[in-house]
Amino acid sequence: MSHRTPSPTDRLLVSGCDVLRVPPQGECEILRAQDIVVADGVIEDVRPTGGPSGSDLAAEVIDGRGLLAVPGLVNAHTHSPMVLMRGAAEDVTVEGWFNDRVWPMESNLTPEDVRAGARLACAEMIRSGVTTFADHYFFPEQIAEAVTETGLRADIAPTYFSSRGQEALEDTVTFAETWHGRAGGRVTVSLGPHAPYTVDDGDLRTLAGHARRLGLRIHVHAAEHLEQTRSSLERRGITPVRVLHETGVLEAGALIAHGCGIVEDDLPLLAEYAGTTAVACCPKVYLKHALSPLTPVRDLLAAHVTVAVGTDGAAGHNTLDVWEALRLVALTQKQAVGDATWMTVSDTLRMAMRGGARALGLQKEIGALEPGMRADIVLTDLSGLHCRPLHDPRAALVYSARASDVRTVVVDGRVLMRDGRLLTVDEPALLAEADARVARILDTSHGRAVQHYDP
Ligand SMILES: [Zn+2]
Repeated sequence: MSHRTPSPTDRLLVSGCDVLRVPPQGECEILRAQDIVVADGVIEDVRPTGGPSGSDLAAEVIDGRGLLAVPGLVNAHTHSPMVLMRGAAEDVTVEGWFNDRVWPMESNLTPEDVRAGARLACAEMIRSGVTTFADHYFFPEQIAEAVTETGLRADIAPTYFSSRGQEALEDTVTFAETWHGRAGGRVTVSLGPHAPYTVDDGDLRTLAGHARRLGLRIHVHAAEHLEQTRSSLERRGITPVRVLHETGVLEAGALIAHGCGIVEDDLPLLAEYAGTTAVACCPKVYLKHALSPLTPVRDLLAAHVTVAVGTDGAAGHNTLDVWEALRLVALTQKQAVGDATWMTVSDTLRMAMRGGARALGLQKEIGALEPGMRADIVLTDLSGLHCRPLHDPRAALVYSARASDVRTVVVDGRVLMRDGRLLTVDEPALLAEADARVARILDTSHGRAVQHYDP
């Protein structure tokens, strides 16, 4: 086994692992005893183990025997630096969460805080087999730097409120022009108006125009729950989704966070742009905030709109664990629809992998372990007692596996975690830095806030 520093241009061989095949439709399959051959960050071949150009030709070999290789998970909606506020806003309503806790705390954040939080978040995601995330936050350069240095893949949307003014809007566009496609293509950018209730129609139109001009998408919170849809109908006679339609946001291509308040009239509007529209479902935060209904996943899929799995920020979700999120999608959707036979194991895995990739416009690059795809590979160890006897590894992934079952993580052909050891992150230093910052961030005695929640 090679011990030199891995580089993306090396040839990498993952030998003897089982492989989860996630087809565009139908049942997922387990391919037994495979070799995954990677060259220049791309999967060149997935084939029965022991073939030609095996370990002798690869610069780096990972012994995958006894492990199951799965496509890296995609966290389709998060605010990564909010790990700094994990557990600091509990047992509150949505309004209390924003107005009494999160938006006052966020007014304390410095660029250095965001960098420390983003690094911690990247480490947590690598540990849990998340190889790509769609982020939405302030000080986006800091997040982009953290992604660059930790080796993950991310689509970063700089959060924008109209209350911040035109200069701030221009700054988000400049960030996009500077960072889109950087870090060897691992960093992409979407524009990030916060929501139709915090960004006015003129700004939504302007951002949609920039998105079309630059070939970017828009990542936005909309119809987060039914109350917001009702309030929008009362105040202005149209739903939040119709606002996105009328301002050109859907036409530009939109990743919509939550969408629990999407109503029947919205479905044709979303269907019109189904090829470039996605909704990220983050059920743990809906359950915590006692919200009902949930994201109408069945209706969205019937309208050919992509649905993906997200955690939202850790100030609501407490973890960035997409295994937990995808399990909750399966459980809550079965319960919501009253049908135990849908949101199957295969459909749930597909949503977290291919669905996440499509939600970020990366379906040609990630979401499956197939020749031609970027090599974002997660090796899971399903030998723990909580997975045994292992009748169906696919079911274990959805209903039994834990983030701690992830052993080795490869992104773009580079090994970021090997056998449980993080290679691009100094964990103790990172934790010490985050801990040193939290007391100041949690102090809201000043009475300031970044925004007031009144949708
Ligand atoms: Zn969010």
